[in-house]
Amino acid sequence: MGQLNVKQALENKEKQLKDIEFALNESSIVAITDRRGRITFVNDMFCKLSKYTREELMGQDHQIINANYHPKCFFQDMWKTIGNGRVWKGEIKNLAKDGTHYWVDTTIVPMLDENKKPYQYVSIRHDITKRKNMEEEMRHMAYYDSLTNLPNRNYLITHLKSLLEKKSSEAFAVLFLDIDRFKTINDTLGHSAGDLLLKEVGKRLKACIRESDLVCRHGGDEFVIVLDNIQDKEGVNLVANRIINELSKPFYSNGERTFLSTSIGINFSTTTKLHRHGNVEIEDIIEEIIQKSDIAMYHVKELGGNGFEFITRDKSEKVVRQFTLESQIHQALENNEFFLVYQPQFRISDEKLVGVEVLLRWKNEKLGLVPPSEFIPVLEKNGLIVPVGNWVLTKAMEQLRNWLDQGLEMKVAINISLKQLGNNLFINSVKDTMQQNNIKPELVELELTESLFSEIDKVKPVLEALKTLGINLAIDDFGTGYSSLSYLDNLPIDNLKIDKSFIDKINIDGESLVKTIIDMGKNLKMEIVAEGIEKEDQLLFLKENNCQIGQGYFFSKPVQSEEIRRIYQ
Ligand code: C2E
Ligand code: MG
Ligand code: MG
Repeated sequence: MGQLNVKQALENKEKQLKDIEFALNESSIVAITDRRGRITFVNDMFCKLSKYTREELMGQDHQIINANYHPKCFFQDMWKTIGNGRVWKGEIKNLAKDGTHYWVDTTIVPMLDENKKPYQYVSIRHDITKRKNMEEEMRHMAYYDSLTNLPNRNYLITHLKSLLEKKSSEAFAVLFLDIDRFKTINDTLGHSAGDLLLKEVGKRLKACIRESDLVCRHGGDEFVIVLDNIQDKEGVNLVANRIINELSKPFYSNGERTFLSTSIGINFSTTTKLHRHGNVEIEDIIEEIIQKSDIAMYHVKELGGNGFEFITRDKSEKVVRQFTLESQIHQALENNEFFLVYQPQFRISDEKLVGVEVLLRWKNEKLGLVPPSEFIPVLEKNGLIVPVGNWVLTKAMEQLRNWLDQGLEMKVAINISLKQLGNNLFINSVKDTMQQNNIKPELVELELTESLFSEIDKVKPVLEALKTLGINLAIDDFGTGYSSLSYLDNLPIDNLKIDKSFIDKINIDGESLVKTIIDMGKNLKMEIVAEGIEKEDQLLFLKENNCQIGQGYFFSKPVQSEEIRRIYQ
């Protein structure tokens, strides 16, 4: 290569390097430090972002822009890597001269001497503050509630996770709070006032606990507090009382004064007690901890709210069953989990089977056979009694048709809830199912409880319409509810079923009462059915006093349809 060519090649190389330097300065934040980390070069972008002048930076180490955000080990690891001659990459949060923070994506390249020892370091950085802020905002959104700015349920779960992962044994308490009747408050004051109240509740709760404890908004009007590192239950009692007290002080919004009360359920436990056995997932343990405090809260509500309670095993089992029951019953009709049994009713004078009472049964995979006393109130509460009651009506009529076809001539008595009577399609369903199965109305009896007297004005026209169909109406469990005799006289009732509790008292001290009911029924031209006859002497007494119909274990328990055929013969 000639001298001219060498010069040309060098010029070309220099030009190329200048171009790279130019491009680098345009695009990146560049700094060079010596072996010990003292700054020997910074480009304009470095100065611009850090808000320091070049003079201020030269000779300093990077401590000048340290935001004290990263743990010590972060930089120790960095120095170890570059000190050994390897390239380090990472994201660093820095502090600018004016106190603001910025994030840089950093690559540090060690420059090595002939002994392969770094003699200086070139760092190339890019500003990623925007992206980082967005990430932080998203993290905040994922872990904090936007209304109260309190941590949310996600945060709670993470917090409990780290608490349970601690090796040491530590007592802690989870308090589940729910504001009493918040829905009413929201409906009367409006949602924005409701929101303000929730914010204020959050503030007051924070003031009731230590800095290291956690308050989070679990959702709606529910808050969860975690107290850790506590000595004993007494300390938790103290906090719970403080909260009840603080929240009972008036709240002011738009010049209006509002009073709140709250129900708190508490789960007190120790971390070691909960350490994982076998393959139980930590998430499931956490779910159970929260659920138990929720159950205790539910218990407080049942007792009228405004108080706190610790969870006990008894309470927990009872309420878990209730929760399961309430959720399982939604699918029960679809899953064919209901079936009917029939309890024979006999004419007392000659003990002939004259009818059956239709009784609903529910068998669920998780819960087994659930007694009607437990599930009927749930069906009434969630309104499912209407479709389920209709199903009972249809099945009962079909069964009766089946018996009639086999020559079994008798009545069916079907229990009807007050909720069903309130549905204006009810009268038509009764009529239609009767027609479809070609059943004479005098073979159908509907059993209603005395609770109908509480809505007499609404119910009376329905009963009258049912009566025009020609069917029989009976008052079930007579004597246990609120029965006004004058009402009875005004309603188209055919039968009175004396409640089992009165039959139980026969030959003890209740004879005169049973006698009075039988006499009264006669005067009102009603037939009397005695329920729950278990003993012969009860039957004898009823016979002597001319009670017409009897039903009870003495004759037969409720049985499957095939069994009725056998009893009839
Ligand atoms: P209920 O209508 O008063 O039914 C009589 C209850 O007394 C039945 O309980 C029956 O098994 C029980 N029983 C009958 N004889 C005796 C006896 O000698 N001794 C004892 N210890 N018990 C006797 P069950 O089947 O558990 O039903 C409980 C209640 O559930 C019924 O009381 C009724 O109010 C309600 N129910 C049952 N099926 C239906 C239904 O299809 N619809 C509605 N709405 N309610 C229903
Ligand atoms: Mg009944
Ligand atoms: Mg009854």
